[in-house]
Amino acid sequence: MLIPVGLWLTYHLFPPDIAGEYDDLLAFLIFMAIVASMPMIINGVPVFFLQWATISVFLIFGLFVEMVLVQIALLTLMLQMRLDKKSLFRLPMNSAMFLLVSFLSGVLYYSLGGSHGTDLLFHIDTFLLILFYPLIYFILNAFILYCIDRLVYKRKTSFFTKDSMWEFFTTLITYPVGFALYIMYLDIGLMALILIGIPFICLSVVLRQYHSSQTINSYLKKIAEIGHQLSQTLFVKETINLFIDNIFELIKVDVVYVDQVNSKNELESIARVEKQKRLPIFSDVFKENEGIIGRVLAAKKPAVFHKREDWEELNKGFMPDYIESVLCMPIIKNKSVIGILLLGSAQKKAFARMKLMILDLLCTQFAVALDNARYFEKTKENSERCALTKLYNYRYFEQHLTTKFAEMNQNLIKGLTVIMLDIDHFKSINDTYGHQAGNEILIEFADRVARLIGKHGVVARYGGEEFVILLEDTTMEEAQEIAEFLRKMIETRSFAIKQNMNENESELQVNLTASLGLASAPEQADEAMALIRHADRALYVGAKRAGRNRVACYMK
Ligand code: GH3
Ligand code: MG
Ligand code: MG
Repeated sequence: MLIPVGLWLTYHLFPPDIAGEYDDLLAFLIFMAIVASMPMIINGVPVFFLQWATISVFLIFGLFVEMVLVQIALLTLMLQMRLDKKSLFRLPMNSAMFLLVSFLSGVLYYSLGGSHGTDLLFHIDTFLLILFYPLIYFILNAFILYCIDRLVYKRKTSFFTKDSMWEFFTTLITYPVGFALYIMYLDIGLMALILIGIPFICLSVVLRQYHSSQTINSYLKKIAEIGHQLSQTLFVKETINLFIDNIFELIKVDVVYVDQVNSKNELESIARVEKQKRLPIFSDVFKENEGIIGRVLAAKKPAVFHKREDWEELNKGFMPDYIESVLCMPIIKNKSVIGILLLGSAQKKAFARMKLMILDLLCTQFAVALDNARYFEKTKENSERCALTKLYNYRYFEQHLTTKFAEMNQNLIKGLTVIMLDIDHFKSINDTYGHQAGNEILIEFADRVARLIGKHGVVARYGGEEFVILLEDTTMEEAQEIAEFLRKMIETRSFAIKQNMNENESELQVNLTASLGLASAPEQADEAMALIRHADRALYVGAKRAGRNRVACYMK
């Protein structure tokens, strides 16, 4: 409403006199539209040099023409900016803002005695007025921007921001040029526009290039920093989280999904974040060429879609309704795809070429970091587990017990019980059926104990045919019951040996028994190793010596 009313009012207050000058007007319009269509986007705000043209238009044709041309230039600019639905309000807002600034500074200029046209005489007071006009324009512009920042965006900015300083200096450069254009126009007509306009268009192009290389530069710096951080992460989960956090920080996206390639060359989800919220991962698995991610897996090349219709038919997995643009990128290590990154944005055409390059770099770093983290976790796992039974080894167990002891001392845990378990006469198993058969039994034995204890405690192979179990927050009676249950389970269910000394023989069933010793803390021990020693003593003195196949508790 403001715009038609404003234009109508201006037309009547300051009627333009442009008869016979339509060609010139058209030339100005073309130049302004070209400049406006090449803005630099700084902090999401388009910046362009248009004042050189607007001031001369204002001085030659008057306020009304200036307002109309600025509105058209603005429209050219806004159409370029691919505004999404949520930012569409910026179109009328900017139009109204420019209209208001033009109108108020124009009215002030005229009411102080300023005028326009080709017969402006250069007296000292007209000259001062012409100097005064851009100042008013600048102040009004900064003031309205400040109000919009406060009222519309609710940002707490001060009046003198980096943007207003930028605006001030561009004003200093462009207004004198506009003024010069005006003077030249009086003498040589449209030729002046070409002489001044062409260099300015070139300048816009150069600055745009410069700015985009600056932007790339700052992105590269950030990516180097992220790479540094990623190289320091040890664990897979930590690495994935850091990667995703940085994507959200670097570019505007709404959803981030990460999949990994499993041993069957299928894709399985490892992370899913929507609107910065971590959600449970998808359970479906994608094969090559299945869905968007499957296609990228097969092609080993990124795919970019600018709007929903472009990818909707390809898509197989879940995607929120609001997503328009999609970018899907392979995560490549040593020329093979180890994962897929999928980004979605509610904005159309959200993923420009520069973002593709940035993400490509980021994915390469992520691939290395992920590989390292996996290697680290695997090595850590290996150093903590026994190779034969896959149970934890004594090294891990002792460390774990020490940690738990510390927790108990801080009253985080009430009590700890250690059960030490030793298979009876295991040597004779080896002697009768061979070492290999003994190993088979140990694997099966370890598996049964681990399954029986389950989440109630931690089971480790302490050495040879000895196992150790740690129970948390269990009373001595409960622990004794568990131990007794274990003993019975071992005694009553025989173990199968498939591979024995005589290869012709079929599967053999072997019966085993075991002896168990228990000790509890804090009652019976005040440090980790003492607790193990006591359980061991209970095992040998209380159970083995008393005839084996029994459970014994430590007694002082
Ligand atoms: P006891 O009832 O007194 O415990 O008798 P035992 O024979 O079980 O005890 P001892 O400690 O004398 O012997 C343990 C045997 O366990 C010795 C070794 O042959 C066997 N053993 C230890 N580790 C392994 C292993 O990894 N694989 C196999 N097959 N046997 C093992
Ligand atoms: Mg034994
Ligand atoms: Mg033994």
